[in-house]
Amino acid sequence: MNDRVLIAGAGPVGLSAAACLTRQGIPVTVFEAKDALPENLRASTFHPPTLDMLAPFGATQGLIDQGLIAPKFQFRDRANGCLAEFDFGVLKDDTEHPFRVQCEQYKLNFLLHGWLQAQGGADVRFGHAITGVRQSDDGVTALIETPNGEQAFAGRWLIGAEGANSVMRQSLEIPFEGFTWDERFLVVSTPYPFEAAMPDLTLVNYFADPEQWFFLLKVPGLWRAMFPTRPEESEAEIFDPGNIEARMQWAHPTVETYERTHTTLYRVHQRVAERYREGRVFIAGDAAHINNPLGGMGMNGGIHDAFNLAGKMAAVWHGEDDRLLDLYEKQRRPIALDYVNSQTIRNKQNLEANTPEAQQAFREFLAEVSNDPRKTHDYLLRTSMIASLRAAEKITE
Ligand SMILES: Cc1cc2nc3c(=O)[nH]c(=O)nc-3n(C[C@H](O)[C@H](O)[C@H](O)COP(=O)(O)OP(=O)(O)OC[C@H]3O[C@@H](n4cnc5c(N)ncnc54)[C@H](O)[C@@H]3O)c2cc1C
Repeated sequence: MNDRVLIAGAGPVGLSAAACLTRQGIPVTVFEAKDALPENLRASTFHPPTLDMLAPFGATQGLIDQGLIAPKFQFRDRANGCLAEFDFGVLKDDTEHPFRVQCEQYKLNFLLHGWLQAQGGADVRFGHAITGVRQSDDGVTALIETPNGEQAFAGRWLIGAEGANSVMRQSLEIPFEGFTWDERFLVVSTPYPFEAAMPDLTLVNYFADPEQWFFLLKVPGLWRAMFPTRPEESEAEIFDPGNIEARMQWAHPTVETYERTHTTLYRVHQRVAERYREGRVFIAGDAAHINNPLGGMGMNGGIHDAFNLAGKMAAVWHGEDDRLLDLYEKQRRPIALDYVNSQTIRNKQNLEANTPEAQQAFREFLAEVSNDPRKTHDYLLRTSMIASLRAAEKITE
């Protein structure tokens, strides 16, 4: 009973790890602090290799059924429309799913939870918050606040996938190095049919603008517009309905007022944990790295962590040398630093370029990449995160 993997957090990362381990015959217990799976709007983009990984659990088909297939994405500006369009079709020999899927991340949580329940063995406990951990040579003990008071649960390893405020990362005193952007990001969801107003629009569109970049992403029934806010703007100013409307009208003028279904403001960080492992405790997903959402790499990178770590745990469980587990941090942390962190910072800098020279350089870069099939292929390997997975595989010690 005690020989199992303990997982803190039933987000996309914790549940992906749980599914992957369960599929390989390893017992898991997942502890989720909330009383039910959260249904909040957060990530909405699933990249091709993530879809490849999730396919054996029926989750990819579920995301396609409940989401939108996005075969292309664009860079645009307000004056000239499309600056460059990229088609994931060129990755047809690199992935089983040469497209993105646009779908709210909570739907993945429901799909994976449903798959786990269907296996009969998965133990997912809601209203169970991890508060601490003890470990020895033989195993790990998670201290869990339950509806019946604090309880201790024993296991072989523990995965901290409890998000950016990870209790595991903090209690192990692992520094979370990096920085926080001055501006907060505002997300406005609207049913306004942008595709009717801009017929050449794709489902994923990044708008470069020296005044205020923004992006427009579609999920079923809604468009999500995201804007940076100025550091000096107060929350009251940002959420003022007139100011939100002015931002939307600036992005795309309409005759009627925009109908809004959600408005969220959040702080954005670029941080990577100094270590991903402390003995028998591992951290993954937002617990280990957070970044800005330009490029949609946060959740996807976390799911890639989960598959990497769960694959290694399964191999060791079934007899491989446990030094294999050291490779998890060696493979995944450089990816968070050198690919995800640097790519998302570059994406933001490109969109907000505010000197004529920097704007011209970004447009020349887009033209150069989109006019050369080899460069287009390399670029799409990077933006779809296939390149980061291949780079991780090359790290063998
Ligand atoms: C507005 C927004 C837009 C985003 N867009 C994208 C995008 O397009 N693409 C992308 O890839 N990423 C995006 N992200 C990032 C993405 O949402 C996260 O990277 C992703 O949710 C990380 O998953 P996770 O499982 O690591 O953590 P979480 O999703 O945060 O899940 C952690 C879980 O742990 C639980 N928990 C917390 N504390 C405890 C505890 N003490 N004990 C037990 N359980 C606990 C929480 O309740 C939660 O269910 C976006 C984020 C935001 C905020």
